[in-house]
Amino acid sequence: MKAVVFHDVGDICLEDVPEPPIEQPVDAVVRITASAICGTDLHMIRGTLPGMKPGTILGHEGVGVVEEVGKGVRNFRPGDRVVVPSTIACGWCSYCRAGYTAQCDVANPNGPQAGTAFYGGPALSGPFMGMQAEYVRVPYAAHNLVRIPHDVTDEQALLCSATRWRCSAAVPSGNLPSCRHSCRAPTGCWRWIACPTGWRWCARWAVSA
Ligand SMILES: [Zn+2]
Ligand SMILES: [Zn+2]
Repeated sequence: MKAVVFHDVGDICLEDVPEPPIEQPVDAVVRITASAICGTDLHMIRGTLPGMKPGTILGHEGVGVVEEVGKGVRNFRPGDRVVVPSTIACGWCSYCRAGYTAQCDVANPNGPQAGTAFYGGPALSGPFMGMQAEYVRVPYAAHNLVRIPHDVTDEQALLCSATRWRCSAAVPSGNLPSCRHSCRAPTGCWRWIACPTGWRWCARWAVSA
């Protein structure tokens, strides 16, 4: 598949790489239909966000169609249109159950003190392969995919990818605002979403839906 691969500071390339397999029963593989370039990617490319591992696929915003699910994923099936939220959470640890999924104790393979797990980031964030690619592996897919309503386009849904359903809370560095209480969209909307950075877009989507 084609993917945007980080090699070094100032050195990224669109190239052919192997498609991601299902690695765990709780994984899904999503065929990406729309992805985004974020200001955060520019930090990685410029080296102002250090610690990138060469070979990491960039991109932490994406929407697509579920291609395959592991045996442990029962709430999604191939063909479902989904948003893939940027951050990765297990769904059952104490933080996840409290709604603070960006603080998940389980999803980051570097341990509970390593910080938020997310796609296409530095080694300390996983690393997990990103979504500027034709396919992405989604860990803990039952919890990390959000189904897209029929009347919402990929382009509209993409704006909600850099968010997280009920993510809330600041990342451990403390430099992102907690929005658990400030960004709930009106009741009756498609879904109320709390997120680190993109709540205005979520609210717009929710209101217009
Ligand atoms: Zn972003
Ligand atoms: Zn968790």
